[in-house]
Amino acid sequence: MPTLVLDMSESAAQKRYRLSEKGKKVKAAYMRKWAKSPQGQKTRAAYKKTDKAKMYKAAWEKTKKGKVMRARAKKRYMAKPESRLKAKIAEHTRRAKVSGLPHTLTAERWLSICEEYNHRCAYCMKQSKLTQDHIVPVKKGGGYTEGNIVPACLPCNSSKKDTSLLIWMASQYV
Ligand SMILES: [Zn+2]
Repeated sequence: MPTLVLDMSESAAQKRYRLSEKGKKVKAAYMRKWAKSPQGQKTRAAYKKTDKAKMYKAAWEKTKKGKVMRARAKKRYMAKPESRLKAKIAEHTRRAKVSGLPHTLTAERWLSICEEYNHRCAYCMKQSKLTQDHIVPVKKGGGYTEGNIVPACLPCNSSKKDTSLLIWMASQYV
């Protein structure tokens, strides 16, 4: 937001208008329009990066209303499947990074892998809610890469856990 430069030459009538309901509405509409303009977006993006903006944001998020609004925004965001996928990928990427493993899988590639598997579990072929399974587990050095991630249903994924693929598969036939 730009700082409101007080015009010292403002007349009493102008001040009355500025403080009136109509004046406030006109100003708010103008500000909304400005915020959407390329220049406004640029200015806002630059402002968001400043320490001052970060400080205000952190303080706001600590207030009761701020907490409620933040939780609401998060809920709204996470209601979208593409956001949940983004969050999942970010979490897997973070885990791979921490372990010093390659992490190149993108949302786009993951969706096409699902497509290749016909949206079925790669292990039991069942059509169900799919999770991302590491063929070679993270603990055994498996990266978050296209060749190492397959769709797996929850029962298969949690049964396999950190077991190597072949050992786990063999156990399924015992
Ligand atoms: Zn399965």
